[in-house]
Amino acid sequence: MPEINQQSSTGGVEGLLSNLDTQVAGILNRALEGEDITASEATVLFETSGAEYNAMVMTADELRRRTVGDVVTYVVNRNINFTNVCIKRCGFCAFSRDYREEQGYFLPLNEIVRRAKEAWDYGATEVCVQAGLPPQMEGDLYIKLCEAIKAELPDMHIHGFSPEEVLYGSTRSKISIKEYLQRLKNAGVGSLPGTSAEVLDQELRDIISPGRIRVDQWTEVITTAHELGIPTTSTVMFGHLETNAQLADHIAYIRDIQKRTGGITEFVPLSFVASEAPMFLQKLVENVRSGPSGTDVIKVHAIARIMLNNWIPNIQASWVKEGSRVSQLLLTAGVNDLGGTLINESISTSAGAQHGQLMRPSEFRQMIRQAGRIPAERYTTYTTRRVFSDTDEEMDPLDLVGDNVEDLFGSYNMLVQMENFRFQHPKHANKEADSAPAATPSGTSG
Ligand code: SF4
Repeated sequence: MPEINQQSSTGGVEGLLSNLDTQVAGILNRALEGEDITASEATVLFETSGAEYNAMVMTADELRRRTVGDVVTYVVNRNINFTNVCIKRCGFCAFSRDYREEQGYFLPLNEIVRRAKEAWDYGATEVCVQAGLPPQMEGDLYIKLCEAIKAELPDMHIHGFSPEEVLYGSTRSKISIKEYLQRLKNAGVGSLPGTSAEVLDQELRDIISPGRIRVDQWTEVITTAHELGIPTTSTVMFGHLETNAQLADHIAYIRDIQKRTGGITEFVPLSFVASEAPMFLQKLVENVRSGPSGTDVIKVHAIARIMLNNWIPNIQASWVKEGSRVSQLLLTAGVNDLGGTLINESISTSAGAQHGQLMRPSEFRQMIRQAGRIPAERYTTYTTRRVFSDTDEEMDPLDLVGDNVEDLFGSYNMLVQMENFRFQHPKHANKEADSAPAATPSGTSG
């Protein structure tokens, strides 16, 4: 792409670009020349509209093309959110339940392994394991969980345990974060989700999720994982209470970590889904927005590409949050990855998102081809499994799944209603076990 011309010229796109605000044109030109733009320059980009906004999106698209080309990737994976019971009360989270609530569930290890094996049979190469923080959790539950999956499926990639969960596991085990991560790695964890980040601004976190993992703790988990050779993703949640400056600072913070460690595989912007979120529904937080506008969604992805292009080549659109049509549009705003098939999407579904729990591989390929790009299936860490031509009509096992997805794979709504996976507090389970020795405590061993 030629440099954006700040001099006037005549007609067409050139004419449009030549009339840009000089500050915006200068920032975009610097990005096109391969320089990192600063957080305050990114804040200027967040304020753009009209021609400046369009030029910003075109710049993101061009940087994407230069860095990763026209291939758009996805991964065949399954979410296993093995419990929704959580000791925390994050204001944006509609997924979690207090242990006293009727809808608390907890999948035993054999059910988790069964789900992983089923996913493998349907072509998945990854399980994404994240959950609530159940009270009095056995400290090495996450370790045992990895060992159990790996014992059956040595080649399945375990993408699991948010920094919040790693911190919880290490606290419950009374060992350091580093030691816990090393144990997770030894047990077979392949990568960590860079979730529980929301916006890495402590003041803001104290409002939207008091008691949540702190910025310094989050950073320690992520950088220690990288130090131990465990890659992570990175995320932002936007459209709630944050300012543009906080968003820009967050992305710059992620970039700084990547400059130091090189351990981040992708950046995933996640729209705040308000409809069932307590801080919105119950008005727990003043001035909280109802989620981002469509323009906000485009801007965050485009600015993430512009800021991160030299350091994190992969910018992902979340179909779970944005739906397939907006995700497809985001392919022209800096995005080169569409995430995973998921099979059991629960977190956003419980928050009121309406985009379903499974995206079939053929649906990904169709979205990508319709956008004029080349579909490819990847592994978790962005090595390629296969690239698809224009014409192949290959079907994956998941493509052959009919409309009865819930019957086949279960769903969040089924889990919160099922009695056989009901969470039982360890204290109560122990009492019952004392009085009835033959009983198996639910929630740990099924
Ligand atoms: S976001 Fe995670 S830690 Fe916070 S309440 Fe939900 S499940 Fe618990």
